[in-house]
Amino acid sequence: MSNQNYIINILNLKEENLFFKENFYYESKIKGITHKIFEAYLSYKPTHCTKCGVIFDDSFEKHGFIISNIKIPDISGFKAILKLHKQRYLCKHCNKAFTLSTNIVNYGCFISNNTKYKIATELTKKRSEKDIAIDNNVSPNTVERIMDSYYETQKLYKHHLPEVLCFDEFKSVKSADGAMSFHMCDGITGQTIDIVEDRRLDKLIKYFFYYDYKARSKVKFIIIDMYSPYISLIKKMFPNASIIIDKFHLTQLISRSLNKTRIMIMKKFKKHHRKFKRYWKLILKSRDELDISKWKRWTCFDPLMTESDVVDFLINLDDELKQTYIIYQNILHALKNKNYDLLKQTLNSYNPNISSYMKISIKTLLEFLPFIKNTFNNNYHNGYIEGNNNFIKVIKRIAFGFRSFRRFKARIMICKGLLKIKKIANA
Ligand SMILES: [Zn+2]
Repeated sequence: MSNQNYIINILNLKEENLFFKENFYYESKIKGITHKIFEAYLSYKPTHCTKCGVIFDDSFEKHGFIISNIKIPDISGFKAILKLHKQRYLCKHCNKAFTLSTNIVNYGCFISNNTKYKIATELTKKRSEKDIAIDNNVSPNTVERIMDSYYETQKLYKHHLPEVLCFDEFKSVKSADGAMSFHMCDGITGQTIDIVEDRRLDKLIKYFFYYDYKARSKVKFIIIDMYSPYISLIKKMFPNASIIIDKFHLTQLISRSLNKTRIMIMKKFKKHHRKFKRYWKLILKSRDELDISKWKRWTCFDPLMTESDVVDFLINLDDELKQTYIIYQNILHALKNKNYDLLKQTLNSYNPNISSYMKISIKTLLEFLPFIKNTFNNNYHNGYIEGNNNFIKVIKRIAFGFRSFRRFKARIMICKGLLKIKKIANA
């Protein structure tokens, strides 16, 4: 291999008509930063005139060179530039001059296609667009343009939906139509299927009409949290689907209301404020997981006590808290043991002295009771989608917010590997 080819290979320039003269390499400071400069010449016999289209003949004349400084990917941590002298030709037919083209760089552009490709692959990592722009010596706008042009547009199969679906929502960008965006994924593989800007019912109905009836009727289970528009949506759009309420959201609902009750009671008992504050976790703990045999010292308490003693002391201070605690434990027990009859009985016959927070939660649970039965009979859960939502939060945070929902969605899909780089791209 000649020296010439070595350089072309090292710089990964896929261009046959490139020539390096002696002293092709030097260093120079541009805006105070040391750049590695490679000087090359591009020259070949063109097939035709790019201005008028006439086939190359004797009347074509060489017409000097035009120099363009092209940004190429960094070399050993240094910024690098390819100073390319492009041959110009004069066409006597139309009396116009034209410059030879190359696949190193697109016409009228000063960023090499290698750099663009590198930026496109970096977009799959959890990095902000601004950081990618700084690292590659380009502007953030260029990064956005590359994102738009290098990636395929999303393909949605309107004839196919998986058997198990998960629905969830996440807080979207400010410019999005709804405050919350809708996120749907496959309940078995956990793969994201699509993200919809607005989770409101009319928008979702419109969205699901995109899928044909056959695809929608194939869906057997849909796992949701307790957001009632989903129920109407599923009844309307998915004729054969059973609704499953996510288990995690059930426990979350009641533990939140118990916690709110504790805070309310805590304000009433100034003397025991610290105890309520310190042992909040014990109150939420399932009763049968509380330790009843180990006696030890507790901060804020004088005598030796067990875990259950601490909890009993706190709940016995106030009847409202006590009753709320009892029903919380009963519901938790029924959920844990997947005992539908017990749950139904507990929800329908509770002590009227429980806190208003718990009353609201019970009302919600009663409303969703028929679907909770499905939760007990199936092992599907929303775990994946909650993980996916965390992932989305990370992307949102590293980017310090996205202005447009379209870009935000594209970035999520790229990072998840759902959008692939196009074979031929023009940016
Ligand atoms: Zn011409």
